[in-house]
Amino acid sequence: MKSVDRHLADIFATVRPLAPLEVDLERAHGTVLAEDVASPVALPPFDNSAMDGYAVRAADVAGAPVVLPVIEDVAAGDSELRAMGPGMVTRIMTGAPVPAGADAVVPVEWTDGGTARVTVHRPVPAGNAIRRSGEDVRAGEIVLRAGSVIGPAQLGILAGVGRRRVLIRPRPRVVVISTGAELAEPGTPLGHGQIWESNSFMIAAAVQEAGGEVFRAGAVTDDPQRFLDALEAQLVRADAVVTSGGVSMGAYEPVKEALAPLGKVVFEKVAMQPGMPQGFGVVGDDDVPIFTLPGNPVSSFVSFVLFVEPALRKMRGLPEGPPLTIRATTTAYLRSPAGKRSYLRAVLSGEKVAPVVGQGSHQLAALASANALVVVPEDVTELPEGAEVEVIPL
Ligand code: AMP
Ligand code: MG
Repeated sequence: MKSVDRHLADIFATVRPLAPLEVDLERAHGTVLAEDVASPVALPPFDNSAMDGYAVRAADVAGAPVVLPVIEDVAAGDSELRAMGPGMVTRIMTGAPVPAGADAVVPVEWTDGGTARVTVHRPVPAGNAIRRSGEDVRAGEIVLRAGSVIGPAQLGILAGVGRRRVLIRPRPRVVVISTGAELAEPGTPLGHGQIWESNSFMIAAAVQEAGGEVFRAGAVTDDPQRFLDALEAQLVRADAVVTSGGVSMGAYEPVKEALAPLGKVVFEKVAMQPGMPQGFGVVGDDDVPIFTLPGNPVSSFVSFVLFVEPALRKMRGLPEGPPLTIRATTTAYLRSPAGKRSYLRAVLSGEKVAPVVGQGSHQLAALASANALVVVPEDVTELPEGAEVEVIPL
């Protein structure tokens, strides 16, 4: 059997980062920056008030309380300001430029709030409540590096340095196809021998959480030709395809039957539990990567975490590597098959991890109650309560 690490290495050898593309800021959220972004100007671009109050010369209020004449009001956005002579003050709002001649701002709370004349109750040091030009960013400074994931704050700074468009690596477009003659669409009645189709919903959500854009093609029956037709119809919009089911050792395995003869998808046994039957390769004229995951829901999910998520990260332009793990202490005795790496569903809280009841690969409710996978190495068959284990948080 092939090792989990070897299978992931083969996937990384095939999968490439998507080509960079320039998009409007509105479409950049969740993508990965593909250029270093510098600010064309200093930020703030001009000295401005950090508070609502009065621009003063600090020396004029040193003997506070003092009464001083207010020469004008300046609000944020005002550009024509009168320079202030000695003994004068300007009523100023947060974000408004500091007038020439002023060297401090007195908060309105420390005054009587006057509009023609103002009583300043307290002295302020020079520079008080002034946000200096360049205090956040110097002109020409790089504010975000290529490879940064663009979240809300990163979008904020891109807009803040005046960018309208930005070079990014897009979200991978992932088509999800389930197979199985027994599958009924949720919301429709179940016939005898049927189950409601769940994998496509689960995998679609996982794709979105992994930063991809998903097209859920729904379920096809166990006819290889139907599967190929569905695949072909979807391929035009795919950077990757994820299928579930139809790759085991039985009869009526449409994914395997349809793709194996094409010679570009390899079906193998990977030494893991759950999720032993795996397939990976490329399809179509553009050699689109395809992950053919096993149909058992928990197997499908674990396979996604181990193989598809890391591949999507690479496609997005993020560093290549397996899922991150942390160390925790198991609260129960654990068993694991010899020769396979197992991924036990568990609840992680703090530094303790408790395996959930129901470790069958069909036990989707148990998976839904878990928030972590305990990784038990191939050569370990049991672990006592209190053992330190490796955990993949979900
Ligand atoms: P397969 O890999 O096609 O042999 O399927 C293995 C098991 O997973 C069978 O019990 C299937 O009924 C079940 N299964 C396959 N696909 C799905 C799906 N999309 N949703 C829920 N269960 C599925
Ligand atoms: Mg099936």
